[in-house]
Amino acid sequence: MIQSTSGDGFLAALPQLSSLDVNNRRVLVRVDFNVPLRPDGTVRDDTRIRAALPTIKALRDRGARLILASHLGRPKGAVTPELTLEPVGAKLAELLECEVRLPDEVVGDAVRKLVLDTRAGQIVLLENLRFHPGEKANDPEFAAALANLCDLYVNDAFGTCHRAHASVVGVPERVHERAPGLLLERELKALGRVVQNPEHPFVAVVGGAKVSDKLTVLLAVIQRLKQGDSLLIGGAMANTFLAAQGVKVGASLHEGDRLSDCRTVIRRAEARGVNVELPVDLRLGADLKGSLSRTIVVEPDTALDADEMALDIGPDTVGRFASRIRAAKMLFWNGPMGLFENPAFARGTLGVAEAVAACPGFTVIGGGDSVAAVRENGLAERVDHISTGGGASLEMIEGKTLPGVAALLSR
Ligand code: ADP
Ligand code: MG
Repeated sequence: MIQSTSGDGFLAALPQLSSLDVNNRRVLVRVDFNVPLRPDGTVRDDTRIRAALPTIKALRDRGARLILASHLGRPKGAVTPELTLEPVGAKLAELLECEVRLPDEVVGDAVRKLVLDTRAGQIVLLENLRFHPGEKANDPEFAAALANLCDLYVNDAFGTCHRAHASVVGVPERVHERAPGLLLERELKALGRVVQNPEHPFVAVVGGAKVSDKLTVLLAVIQRLKQGDSLLIGGAMANTFLAAQGVKVGASLHEGDRLSDCRTVIRRAEARGVNVELPVDLRLGADLKGSLSRTIVVEPDTALDADEMALDIGPDTVGRFASRIRAAKMLFWNGPMGLFENPAFARGTLGVAEAVAACPGFTVIGGGDSVAAVRENGLAERVDHISTGGGASLEMIEGKTLPGVAALLSR
């Protein structure tokens, strides 16, 4: 696509929630209520529900008749009782201190009747969109059925904007009056700033599981880096980079077929004068659920034992990363530095998270696991922007147009 989702120009082209005339009109809001559930079916973490409250409250206060729509989990186009949005509706009712009406279908006559019967300030939450195969397929009939429920459309589901699904793309194509919600607008501003107006020194911190997942992001980020910027690589991803430099990584999670990709990343970054930092020390273990066995310094001829795994970056690496982070004017972080789910291997991620929290520059974190690590450690408040979308934030950082955002633009 020609347009980029980022930058002030793009934002200026988007309609504004505040300029919609919503009073006493049916407004369908695509929200992201894809929350983790407990085994008993109740909501385990309501962060995503809370994140949608500003938009919901703003519309309610302005007298909108609200229809909320979300997916939950992967019901694969079939009604799946364990993935009903009912517990989400209960949580939402509790947070808003008002009734949330729940039809037991996504679309259909009963839903239509309930929606028509909804008064200004009242809220209907449709059943799980993905109970219907038309959602993921962006089926025209399903999209039209959703569109017919409403007068206006608002998208506040940033985490789903990279998917061309019916509720994300098909509905706004059919509803003339539409706008991004407040959460989506905030995401576009922050990530757009990183893509369009990077400030230097820019520090990109990348970790997580696989090089293959993030290779396109890495290459796109490098294109925007300049002399003196830094690329800090940790996590299992760093194991593949170290293997590409000849380190024997033993049983560590790594991708043996990505060594030349790693060399390309390093070559391109260094050609631009970027400081590429790989781990200089590692915390090892023999078992993902077990404890630390030893910490080693990485040398070119380092060889782990065949059954050893590098599960976290070591203290010297944290120190080196932290000093780069301290000097950053702008920073983007995706992917934990180690197997942080096991406290024995969480120190690298925590150390980086603390450095990011203390960084005076503009800091943005994207990605499900890295965000979870920062929240668990109570550092979220000290980061400028924590993206609610993993895949969507990475696609924006790549410079792609998100289909859900493109669909909001006036034609
Ligand atoms: P994000 O969700 O932030 O984009 P990823 O999904 O790419 O991050 O990667 C997160 C996962 O990678 C976590 O489950 C983490 O335990 C795992 N991981 C990170 N480093 C290692 C490592 N050295 N060995 C094994 N797993 C790792
Ligand atoms: Mg993840």
